[in-house]
Parts: sequence; C-alpha cells; structure tokens
Amino acid sequence: MSDDSIFEHALQRLDEAAKHLNVDQDVIEKLKFPRETTKVRLMIRMDDGSRKSFVGWRCRYDDTRGPTKGGIRYHPDASSAEVETLAFWMTFKCAVMGLPYGGGKGAVQVNPRELSKAELERLSRAYIQAFARIIGPDRDIPAPDVYTNSMVMGWMADEYSQIVGQAEPAVITGKPIALGGSLGRGDATARGGYYLVRHLADELGLGQEMRVAVQGFGNAGQHIARLMVADGHRIVAVSDSHGAVASDAGLDVDKLIAAKDAGGSVVDTVGHDGHALLPAEELPGVGCDLFVPAALENMIDARNAPWLKAKVVLELANGPLTPEADQILAANGVVVLPDILANAGGVTVSYFEWVQNRHGYYWPLEEVHVRLRTIMEREGRAIWNISREKEIPMRTAAYVHALGRLAEAIEAHGTQAFFMS
Ligand code: GLU
Repeated sequence: MSDDSIFEHALQRLDEAAKHLNVDQDVIEKLKFPRETTKVRLMIRMDDGSRKSFVGWRCRYDDTRGPTKGGIRYHPDASSAEVETLAFWMTFKCAVMGLPYGGGKGAVQVNPRELSKAELERLSRAYIQAFARIIGPDRDIPAPDVYTNSMVMGWMADEYSQIVGQAEPAVITGKPIALGGSLGRGDATARGGYYLVRHLADELGLGQEMRVAVQGFGNAGQHIARLMVADGHRIVAVSDSHGAVASDAGLDVDKLIAAKDAGGSVVDTVGHDGHALLPAEELPGVGCDLFVPAALENMIDARNAPWLKAKVVLELANGPLTPEADQILAANGVVVLPDILANAGGVTVSYFEWVQNRHGYYWPLEEVHVRLRTIMEREGRAIWNISREKEIPMRTAAYVHALGRLAEAIEAHGTQAFFMS
C-alpha cells in the first residue's frame, strides 16, 4: 500500500513539531531512524502438502522509554517502509499517552483471506518461531493490527510460551480473555476515540445528534459505529473494501455488522431499511459532522480532501491522511483529531493487559473503561491546550506533546551540551 515516501511523510511531522519545541539535536538524530528492522522468510506447510514462503518483518523503532510495543498486520501490500513508518507512529503514540513503552510494529506480506484457518495458525506460529529472540515481555510486545485478531494473538502467545518453556502471557496483548486477555481490549481503539470526541465535543462545535461517516468497517469501524449509535448519533455512510452504503435517516448498524460477520460486505445490506449503494470514492463527500477514517494509510489525499465537509475528522486508522490532505483540511477549517491520539485507546488497553498479566490480577470492565477514559481525556485536553496556545493543528500539537516526553528521556542520557561543558 505504500512506497518509501510514507516514511518521509512521517518524518515531516517530526520536523514540524521540532519547530515548536526546543529539543537537543541528539533527539532528532535518534528519532530519524529505526533502531532495528528484521526481515525473515516464513516457510509453512500448506493444506495441499506444498511448502510456501511469506515475507515477515518486525521493527523495533525506539526503546528509550521502555520495551517496544505495536501490532502485527497481515496484508498483501505490507512493506518494509510501511512497517517502519507504523513503528515510528507507535513510538509517538506511546509517548502521547505517557505509556512506559517505545514503538514497534510487525507485518507479514499475505492475504489472510486466501489461507485456510489451519494455514493461518501455522503462519502465526512460524512468525513467533522466527521472532522469539527479538520479542519478550520486557523487550518487544506485539498486539493485533489490520487483519489479525485475538485468536491469532492466542496462537502467538502459546507458541512463545512453548519456546521459552513457561507461561508468558505478557509477551503479547489483545489475547482472548480466556488466555489472559483484558476485558475491554476488543473495542478499545474505537472507545478511546469516542471518549476523546465526547470530552472535546463543545470545543469542537459538535452537537447532540451528530451525523457520522465511517470509512472502513473492521474492528475500529464497527465499534465506533456501535458506540455512536448507542449515544444517539446517526451513521449516515459506511464503506469497506467492497463498496459503500448510505442512508440519510441513519444506517442499521446491527445489520451492517451481521453482514460482516457472515463473511460479506456492508454493500450486502443495500435495500434494507433505506440503505442505498454509494460509490466508495464518494464517501468523503457525504455531508456529516464527524468523518472517521478507520481503514488504511493515505485514504484521504490531495484528490479527495477538498470534498470533505465534516467539522471533525477522527483518525481511527493509522496515517489515513497525507500531509497535503492535512493542509487542505486545515485551510477548510476541518479539525483533525490525529491518529497517535485518536486511536491510542487500543495500545492503552494493551498496556492495561500487560500490567494485569504481570500482576496476575485482573480488573473488572468498569475499571478498564474508567482508566481508559481518564487517560484519553487527560492527554486529549493537554494536546488541545497546546494546539490553542501555539495556534497549531492538533496533529502538530500531539507530536509536540510526544516529542517533549521522548526528548526528556533521550536527553536524560546526556546531550552534546552536557558532554562538551
Ligand atoms: N495495532 C494497534 C495500533 O496501531 C494496537 C497496538 C498495541 O495494542 O500494541 O495502535
């Protein structure tokens, strides 16, 4: 899904933030490059008896603030540049939230829909066999991402535990509850974004009955739709990789989720209760208050950003807006709640899961929700204030906030000024 420019775009956001903060040059030098990226070839036995190989990566971008943390995605277009960019974003995301982690990411170049369930299990276990020497509860902690889920995490945690000869649930987060997962991890990405929007609603000019459009209908897209409807808002359009549906009166979210659960698409619901087919490329042009990109990178670019009429964009996907799209939206007065804040609920509850695994003591759902809400509101408010004070977009403010914490950690080892004085 990306060429190498995706990483250059990510670094532009670091440069932009650095203009607003007095950080030592050491800090930029350290954050400009990934610490290590390992590429492997995973060989598995297919159901028909043949052997097939897949390329896999794990990137540990920066571990100054703690063990590296970040998901593993299965996608046919995965690339080394994409993994490194996603790991860069994780570094800033964990710093934004004040979690004691650095950033990492992994991927396998595969279309998981073309594998049987047994092949998927063998591939997931092969990934851990290849990376067992790199990951670990105090070194690098994977989690779910695009097209991986709790079942995959369960296989991976089991494989790691078998390799090290003891139960190590804290090596991976997003596991099934029965295998040491945390309550509330399933919808945490969407729920964090929902808490953030609710907390800043007045400042953002969002009213009681919002019209919401959702791009992408996987984990984050489905959960945000459900949470918004439960809160009295209307989902007016939704898309997935097959197409889009719209209804001015509001879509039936349960019906949309049922279509996905049955292995189909949101477009399968066309005709039900006013659901009308919409060309997917027209989704950004749908009139709404809140636009939620919840799919892949670079979905909103210079081409379609001018059509976007929402008041607010809530980035539940990682990197859904190109830098050009950012500029266009800013010029049009659209406020963007940036990915490293807006979708950080996922990694925050991953952190809770890791804490619970290490204590062997598990929290009730209510406690997870309260702790998540507290952190989302605290960091969201801090970033809002930076954005107002410095008169900069929320994305730049989020990077300034994260960079401050990263700089503090990196500078604590000494800077050029310290060593030369
Ligand atoms: N893959 C998710 C993200 O991009 C979650 C990462 C995690 O839970 O470690 O934030």
